[in-house]
Amino acid sequence: MPVYEYKCPNCGHFELKQSIKDDPISNCPTCDAQVQRLISKNVGIIFKGSGFYINDSRSDSTDTSAS
Ligand SMILES: [Zn+2]
Repeated sequence: MPVYEYKCPNCGHFELKQSIKDDPISNCPTCDAQVQRLISKNVGIIFKGSGFYINDSRSDSTDTSAS
């Protein structure tokens, strides 16, 4: 049974086990506020953005054109 994650503005983050046939809820079962559904754990999330760096490959040209 998949576990869906929701974020409630009042209750915070919570998980809800639902059948795969059930529709995701749109309101919090506790306080009836509108919840935001987060990505299920079954779906792999690929985080990008961190760990890159700019390889500043300056050409070490000793261009000493001094007169
Ligand atoms: Zn709530």
